[in-house]
Amino acid sequence: MSDLNDHEKEIVQTIKEFLMKIGTENNILKGNLLKKEVKDFLINNPNAFLLGLISDQSVKAEIAWSLPYHLKERIGTFDFQKIVHLYDETKLEQVIKSKPALHRYPSRMAVYLLSAIKDILEKYNGNAENIWKNKTAAEVVKKLEEFKGISHKKASLGALILTRDLDINILDKQNIDIAYDTHIKKIFKRVGLVDDSTEENVLNSARKLNPDFPGELTTAFWTIGREYCYASNPACLLCPLNNLCEKNMEDEDIEGVKVR
Ligand code: SF4
Repeated sequence: MSDLNDHEKEIVQTIKEFLMKIGTENNILKGNLLKKEVKDFLINNPNAFLLGLISDQSVKAEIAWSLPYHLKERIGTFDFQKIVHLYDETKLEQVIKSKPALHRYPSRMAVYLLSAIKDILEKYNGNAENIWKNKTAAEVVKKLEEFKGISHKKASLGALILTRDLDINILDKQNIDIAYDTHIKKIFKRVGLVDDSTEENVLNSARKLNPDFPGELTTAFWTIGREYCYASNPACLLCPLNNLCEKNMEDEDIEGVKVR
């Protein structure tokens, strides 16, 4: 913490206190976001975990991570050999977009998921666990990024969930970045941690704030983004960063003029 200015130190302290307060409630596999049967499926099936991670974009986390379970229910199997034999991208898209749709972007997801299923069969002996078994965080992130549809953000989120929720033994947690997304980007700028919220700036700021494990900050910022820091009309009065935020909207009257 010695390289941090006072503002950064207070933010780290507040975020860590907030993390303690929320505990595991918003953790994908240990919290309350998913139904028990969905969580059990993701926890016990590494291939389902990988498809859940790939689905985690442009929809709420609970919808994305439930997709593998509902896919298995709809097609009656989660055997990857059978799936590649029976489904091409068009057929898989039809399954995903049948009402109620399993994702906002069924076509893109069909491409990503089928590509991942083939990669798992060809490169990982049919088992996604081989991506992270006995690997360092740096290796896990790199291998995840090789999948179509997995960005650095998703790879970092995957490594975080593996070590945090599944207790996968990853020692080099300094190589797990914060999972940069719209919530995190917005808050880093609003609280004044970065002037320009590019991915590089936010990742570097998080590495500076929590060098031993930057990704540890993800859940706290993500929760603040979901529950308080809306794009418009954020609930600043309730936000744990209220006293530290440069953009605290409570500072403004209804016409946007500063009143204090
Ligand atoms: S105080 Fe308001 S603007 Fe600042 S991070 Fe919290 S909700 Fe967002």
